[in-house]
Amino acid sequence: EQQETPSSYDSKKLPIYQHKASLQQAVKDNSFLVVTGETGSGKTTQLPQYLHQAGFWRDGRIGVTQPRRVAAITVAQRVSQEMRCSLGREVGYQVRFDDCTTESNNTPTTGILKDILLGLLKQTISPTDKASKGRSVPLKVVVMSATLETDKLSVFLGGCPVFTIPGRTFPVISRFGCAIGQKDTESTVYLKEVVKVALDVHTCEMSGDILVFLTGQSEIEKACDMLYEKAESIDYRYDVQDRTVEGLLILPLYGSMPTDQQKQIFQPPPPGIRKCVVATNIAATSLTIDGIKYIVDSGFVKQLNHNSRVGMDILEVVPISKSEAQQRAGRAGRTSAGKCFRIYNQEFWEKCMPDYTVPEIQRTSLTSVILTLKCLGVHDVIRFPYLDRPEERFIMEALKQLYQCDAIDRRGKVTLLGGLMVEFPLPPGLTRALLQAATLGCEDLLLPVAAMLSVENIFIRPGHPAKQKEADEKHRMLAAQAGSCNDFTILLSVFEKCKASDDPSAWCKAHYIHWRALKSAFSVEAQLREILLRLRQVSLDFPMEKFDGNKSELFRRCLCAGYFTNVARRSVGKVFTTMDGHGTMVHIHPSSTLFDQEGQLDWVIFHDVLATSRVYIRTVCPIRYDWVKDLLPKLHEVDVYDLSSVARQEVTDEEMAKWETKEAAKRQTGSTEDYFKKLEK
Ligand code: ADP
Repeated sequence: EQQETPSSYDSKKLPIYQHKASLQQAVKDNSFLVVTGETGSGKTTQLPQYLHQAGFWRDGRIGVTQPRRVAAITVAQRVSQEMRCSLGREVGYQVRFDDCTTESNNTPTTGILKDILLGLLKQTISPTDKASKGRSVPLKVVVMSATLETDKLSVFLGGCPVFTIPGRTFPVISRFGCAIGQKDTESTVYLKEVVKVALDVHTCEMSGDILVFLTGQSEIEKACDMLYEKAESIDYRYDVQDRTVEGLLILPLYGSMPTDQQKQIFQPPPPGIRKCVVATNIAATSLTIDGIKYIVDSGFVKQLNHNSRVGMDILEVVPISKSEAQQRAGRAGRTSAGKCFRIYNQEFWEKCMPDYTVPEIQRTSLTSVILTLKCLGVHDVIRFPYLDRPEERFIMEALKQLYQCDAIDRRGKVTLLGGLMVEFPLPPGLTRALLQAATLGCEDLLLPVAAMLSVENIFIRPGHPAKQKEADEKHRMLAAQAGSCNDFTILLSVFEKCKASDDPSAWCKAHYIHWRALKSAFSVEAQLREILLRLRQVSLDFPMEKFDGNKSELFRRCLCAGYFTNVARRSVGKVFTTMDGHGTMVHIHPSSTLFDQEGQLDWVIFHDVLATSRVYIRTVCPIRYDWVKDLLPKLHEVDVYDLSSVARQEVTDEEMAKWETKEAAKRQTGSTEDYFKKLEK
């Protein structure tokens, strides 16, 4: 492929360019440095190159972290273009499920999260740390951030210097709309309104590109379809308000988009054409698109939040924060004055939007973070220097889950299994199920399922009622072909059928399946398989139950090994009760193949939960009580030992023995069945 090389003039125009020499010097002089400047000033793409030019690469590598995968990929592409080298050699990237570095097998632990990275670096560089004294190569840490967090970062890093790149931004006028008020959170409402406002901007405002903020892939695709339809009906022969309306180039932008399609976003539109990018929140901070003059802000974002009612992380559409809204608006004022059209009213702003966005580490499950820390040798996960300290009870919850999955032992030490689990970029339960299958040699059943559960929903639900009926029909047919009736098997069957077909993309189209999502699932599966293979070469020797059965039984029993934390039992009618101690009343989601068959079920496991007016369980599988009988008590034994002392320090044998005795005593107070009866009440 011909690499387009941007003229060096471009990068010399960026605000950071004038500070090149002083930045290089500042990094030489300091172990820690905070660099701040407006989004788009050139921090991400230029500074690594300046450091490269100053020779820092001779001491090792210049690593750049990015919280989002799309951003990591596009930044690496951009930098490799600017440096005129091919991607994957001098400049590479590594994201979850996609590795593009020359030493791909040599990269450090997967999934080092942004939230703990600074804490780890702080501990590593701290002068009291013995390890740093022996290091031959000095480690330099440059933290680049837009303005808001600068002071917090500097204080966190022991009062390190802050380098400010002065930058000019232009005024942006923001206007409230009237479509969304305090009570509207239905996506259909804001979707229509966003499309309407974007078209109004297109027909009424002077030239300049439009950036629309929505929350996720399917919504963005819907909005783009609606925009296409409407834009086509504009009669371009006639002037609207005394000027000719330009053509409209509509481009979606979301995380799981293929990279070749992403490139188009950054290219200027052809003359006489207005670009309209419909994006998720990645366009707010992680990516900068030149030429944007108008913002259409839906006021919503899709966020992973821990739901304490159901004890799980749930992807939810929530109102953005006020600071987020300001950040979104600011994207219109980079090169000239701009306008931001908010579709919500002032009441929504005041009553529904929080001042700031809570950092992700403080609102999601910490299991992967805690396991990663433990594997990196951080035992005391409570006093660890988190940049944004999560609440202690959430750390406890994570420890509990890790213990339940056998990733850590009673002393809080990583087990053999935990050491393997950390290698997989999957939730611990899913990994455990996968590893269980691997010990029985039937990983081919679980790998595709794990991959399918790691990508966006694969089933297309068209907006048009007739098409929807047809899609439902096709999906029912797929379910029937899958043989045994559960949602996990359907995922496996769709994966296998599509893979085996001569023309997978046509197969998807014919069956109302998202080809893009499935394509990512293929790639994820291959990578999970590779991880498994790599681990197998070292050793996959850890204690796991051995059992036998037909294919369907094996499959479901392996799932149970990971999903026993998500077990529900039917109590009355169509209502199920979870067995995790919360005793949440749940219903099977209408999208499940088991919907309407509830009456015939008894015990089920489920992948996740959707909380609306009711709590729904999704991706459901019927199981036998026998398969989880011995696993379930583990869910309730943790209260017995004191997790917080385990987390804070090494526990003595004596203390451990005391807990063991207490635990044994508790087990004798009643049978498992009695316990569940109690729970259900
Ligand atoms: P910052 O990190 O300060 O937000 P960046 O280094 O990301 O700034 O961006 C600097 C400039 O480079 C922006 O004007 C942006 O438009 C441009 N740019 C960044 N990535 C790309 C890309 N992939 N393609 C084209 N232009 C890009």
